[in-house]
Formats: sequence, structure tokens, C-alpha cells
Amino acid sequence: MSETRTCSWCGMEGITGGCPHCTRWIKHAPKRHEMTPEERMAEVRDHTKLEVPFTAWHLRMQEVIGRPVLVHEFNTDNLENLILEAGDKRDVPADPLNLAALPPDIEVVLIPEMWPYRRVNYTPDDLELGENHE
Ligand SMILES: [Zn+2]
Repeated sequence: MSETRTCSWCGMEGITGGCPHCTRWIKHAPKRHEMTPEERMAEVRDHTKLEVPFTAWHLRMQEVIGRPVLVHEFNTDNLENLILEAGDKRDVPADPLNLAALPPDIEVVLIPEMWPYRRVNYTPDDLELGENHE
């Protein structure tokens, strides 16, 4: 029998894997436009507590932040920028590819069809994940 734990987001006890309560909640969670900037900032700040399957977590963070967000943007050094962005308080434009970090003599070609930087629209049905999907 696998070890159980308590969800750090909702407090549900006895869970293994993703929290079923939070996974249900996330399907009907308020949309970005229904939340205050402070609520959005708090949710991104506490994102590590959200114990749901990865895809559900990623889609939720993109909804709250308001744009497609690459996973590496959640690194510790950049997290405060994402929190500010969720609250519409970021005054520096997002740089998801971190192009500013590239040496100036590197030539970069972006191919629009391969560029995932577009608004992600999803429905609750997109979050119907299989039992073993983490
Ligand atoms: Zn939970």
C-alpha cells in the first residue's frame, strides 16, 4: 500500500498522487478575469502547493498569468516576475525564451508555426486526465 499524505493546498487527507479534490476544483476555478490582481498573485506565489497532475497545474498557471508560460519560466530567479505579471504589475516585458541572456552575436530565427507563444484556450474537458496521468 502506498504512503498517503495531506494535500498542502486544500488539506484533504489520505491522498496518493494528485489531489482529487483540487483536480476537480481546478476545472471550475475562477478565470483570470474573475479574480482580483491580489488573488492571482497569491495563487502563482503558492503554486507549489497545488498538488494536481502536471498538465492541470500548467494550464491553471497559464490561465492565472494570462499567457502561455514555458515551464522553465517558473525557476526561482524569475518567479517574482511571474507573480507581478499575474497581478498586471510587471513593468518589464516577459521574455519566455530568455533571449536577453543569449550572446549578442547569436542569430535567432523564430518560426511562427513552431512558436508556442499564443493564447491557450482550454475547456474543463481538456483536464479530463487518466488515472495514471501525472
Ligand atoms: Zn487538494
